[in-house]
Amino acid sequence: MNMSPATSLLHQSDLIQAQGAPFSQGPVFASTYHLAGNPAGIKYQYGRFDNPTWVALEKTISELEGGPCLTFASGMGAISAALTAWVKPGDTIVLPSDGYFATRVFAENYLSKWGIHVKSIPTNQMVNTDWSGVRLVWVESPSNPGLDTVDICALAASVQQAGALLAVDNTTATALIQAPLKLGADICVASDTKALNGHSDVVFGHVAVRDEELLKPIRQWRTLVGAIPGPMEAWLVHRGLMTLDVRIERQSSNALKIAEYLSSSKHVRLVRYPGLPTDASYEIARKQMRYFGGVVGFELPSAALAQAFLSHWSLAIESTSFGGVHTTAERRMRWGSDHVSEGFIRLSVGIESINDLLTSMEKAFEKTFP
Ligand SMILES: *Cc1c(COP(=O)(O)O)cnc(C)c1O
Repeated sequence: MNMSPATSLLHQSDLIQAQGAPFSQGPVFASTYHLAGNPAGIKYQYGRFDNPTWVALEKTISELEGGPCLTFASGMGAISAALTAWVKPGDTIVLPSDGYFATRVFAENYLSKWGIHVKSIPTNQMVNTDWSGVRLVWVESPSNPGLDTVDICALAASVQQAGALLAVDNTTATALIQAPLKLGADICVASDTKALNGHSDVVFGHVAVRDEELLKPIRQWRTLVGAIPGPMEAWLVHRGLMTLDVRIERQSSNALKIAEYLSSSKHVRLVRYPGLPTDASYEIARKQMRYFGGVVGFELPSAALAQAFLSHWSLAIESTSFGGVHTTAERRMRWGSDHVSEGFIRLSVGIESINDLLTSMEKAFEKTFP
């Protein structure tokens, strides 16, 4: 039976079929396993190599992604693995210049030191680039924090024709909204700290790939570097996953209504949301995303007004990161590292009642612009 993710996320465990079995098996805490004699072919040998709680979660994520996957201690643990595993000195990789800051710093400060050429171009110019001589192309769609999109099918075709690999950082969307491997990408990475776990209580990541051959160096990298998740964290992420579809559905419908409100406000200079038909990302988003997600970007006229607005919006918790069940927001330029304006706010819409969100936001506007 071909099930939608909302169903398959809940109904794929063999466990719940057995009489008297718990619906959810708890985390397995193990640094070592009973291992007598010849260890060849024994799945569980040592805690840094493998763990049954990771394996159960990896099976679930793989199903969403459409390819085998390995989990990591953080999104950056997964990203540094994927950026390193398939390149060698002399290779060229291309990153989005407007993508996640830490990814760019890792490539520029470390990969380039090891003789890898690191180039960067804006997300919205990726599709019209000639990839000859490139080994790996990295893209975010929607990009964080600018929310530009790339046609992943079209990009995968042009990248692979040039003999390169396409990797997608799918953090903003999650594998539920779009599965890059199914759209033709070779590699998909995500920070599951964000919407995939969705409860703001775990730092986590994963790498999914087109086939087992591509997974081999990722597994070896994880074992050697030791960027392994804890069993408790893996179990919490697995638990969070069960409600992914309802969370994303609510976040997306709330976000659309908020984006519409913002678009109609005379105090807001620019609104970015892939679900707004007027947005530059809309046509591509509509084609490749099942929902438009909970992240909205918008610009107030200055840093001071943006800060004032955030301090007045009682229901939006001022914090970094996104994708959780609570509505959160921050002025991105307080970090100084993104290519956005001083008054740009990244808003992550939660699962609260839309009426409460709109009412409290309206009040914040009244107080900010008396
Ligand atoms: C947060 C984030 C990361 C890093 O993930 P961590 O879990 O914090 O290590 C990578 N890429 C994107 C797009 C992110 O938003």
